[in-house]
Amino acid sequence: MTEKDNAKLTELETLRHSAAHIMADAVLRLFPAAKLAIGPAVEDGFYYDFDCERPFTEDDFKNIEEEMKTIISEKQPFVREEISRSDAMGMFKDNPFKSELIQELPEDETLTIYRHGDFVDFCRGPHIEHTGRLKAFKLLKVAGAYWRGNENNQQLQRIYGTAFSDKKELRKYLTLLEEAAKRDHRKLGKDLDLYSTLENYGPGLVLWHPKGGRIRNAMENFWRESHIKHGYEILFTPHIARLDLWKTSGHWDFYRENMYAPMKVDEVDYELRPMNCPFHILVYKSHLRSYREFPLRWAELGTVYRYERSGVLHGLMRVRGFTQDDAHIFCRPDQIEDEVGSTLDFSLYILKSFGFSDVDIYLSTKPEKYVGEDASWEIAESALKNALDKSKLEYKVDPGEGVFYGPKIDIKIKDSLGRAWQCSTIQVDFNLPERYDMEFVGKDGAKHRPIMIHRALMGSLERFFGVLVEHYAGAFPTWLAPVQATVLPVGEDFVDYAYEVAKQLKKDNVRVEVDDRNEKLGFKIREAQMQKIPYMLVVGAKEVEAESVAVRSRKEGDLGSMSIADFDKKVVSEILERCN
Ligand SMILES: [Zn+2]
Ligand SMILES: [Zn+2]
Repeated sequence: MTEKDNAKLTELETLRHSAAHIMADAVLRLFPAAKLAIGPAVEDGFYYDFDCERPFTEDDFKNIEEEMKTIISEKQPFVREEISRSDAMGMFKDNPFKSELIQELPEDETLTIYRHGDFVDFCRGPHIEHTGRLKAFKLLKVAGAYWRGNENNQQLQRIYGTAFSDKKELRKYLTLLEEAAKRDHRKLGKDLDLYSTLENYGPGLVLWHPKGGRIRNAMENFWRESHIKHGYEILFTPHIARLDLWKTSGHWDFYRENMYAPMKVDEVDYELRPMNCPFHILVYKSHLRSYREFPLRWAELGTVYRYERSGVLHGLMRVRGFTQDDAHIFCRPDQIEDEVGSTLDFSLYILKSFGFSDVDIYLSTKPEKYVGEDASWEIAESALKNALDKSKLEYKVDPGEGVFYGPKIDIKIKDSLGRAWQCSTIQVDFNLPERYDMEFVGKDGAKHRPIMIHRALMGSLERFFGVLVEHYAGAFPTWLAPVQATVLPVGEDFVDYAYEVAKQLKKDNVRVEVDDRNEKLGFKIREAQMQKIPYMLVVGAKEVEAESVAVRSRKEGDLGSMSIADFDKKVVSEILERCN
């Protein structure tokens, strides 16, 4: 292992990295031709990258795990040795990966190797005392990985595993993995026919299918209505513009690796937008602004395109084209605190409406390299801090973790499996107002620079939707469900009545369908359950007679008979309540 932060490994990371050594030892015992690349501890476990002609499969895991158990039972001590550069080069001369790493280390660095038994690795450590300390581990998957993450380099085989301090913790984690796999948004996206990605025509680009589209529409409608209620104006701006716009913003200099190659329009370079901000600034600059207009709150569901390496694309979570629920607030310095405070409240309201009330909040302050005056940073940081303190919310300060252009507040939501997802961000920006020479006329009649705040609440609609799918395991709350109720006639004689029921509900914009197929009721019910539809309305002779429906709720089971009007009222009020 040669990751930079090795010296700072936590106890669990030390255990996991040691597990990587033990796994590498086991692999070498079974496949002596394999060459080792790197084997760090990672967030939920560890991996080791191997160069080996024979492809590893999960069928090999049993043997490798058995071999690891043998090494563990041998209780071999981990021994640290300092070594000269030339000795290290000699020792690893047959291993191009280790050789490359050794050569790159600064001259004055003390090189170390770690041994256990016959196994030796070029490594900074630290390690557990002996191999017997590894009590609970499991190999999880094997995947291709490029040397140093670069597609131009050789492809290696990466074996992932995890390790915990005891078996109980390990079991808990494995259960979580199983649960996460069941609700994987890529699987449910297919099962529930919500979306797909343009595999052959553009990886990382998303097609929303009709049912996913219904959910997105509900998300957007709620988003738009609540923004208008909270004093926002809605903007619409183009997806491309002359490259010059991105030169002025600085994105072409500092963000180019995430931007696509420009295209020619009338011999001039045009660029797909990676951000919406410059367009909002152009709207701002369309006429002279006065302090009296402030705060200006402008929101846009703005679709942006950012380059991501194909290897990191992942369902809806990491894509190349996505829609931000973006907004920019322009205000005076003395308004930052109020604006940040109300944005924070608004953000929590939106997240809660989608069912996320458990959040972690972070305040990130001035980094080493920054733009803007120190005095402005102080004003902005204390405004953010005051807004957080007033909100009485718990938060953590990440010193020095702000963006170069200003301090920020980030909100991470926790899903039903306890996993954290970074969604909302509120960022003060001292950079763009300067670059675009933005001004307003103050009370004193003189010209001043406005404060610009970027904020996104859901972040990316695509990713947020992916999180929603996994959070609810596809069983969306009624207001989001693509089909809110399905009417199930018990026989052909009742199909007309079923459509009558649907017609009445549709008048109130309930998303309702009729399953008029000539199938058994049990079959239709099972299918509706698989589709996770909140309400099934069974209709037969009794219901026709009483002008009612027999209601089965996904959550509460059999609710008995209800008049059509009563069910209508019930479902409409539930839709309006959302998740609150
Ligand atoms: Zn090591
Ligand atoms: Zn922005």
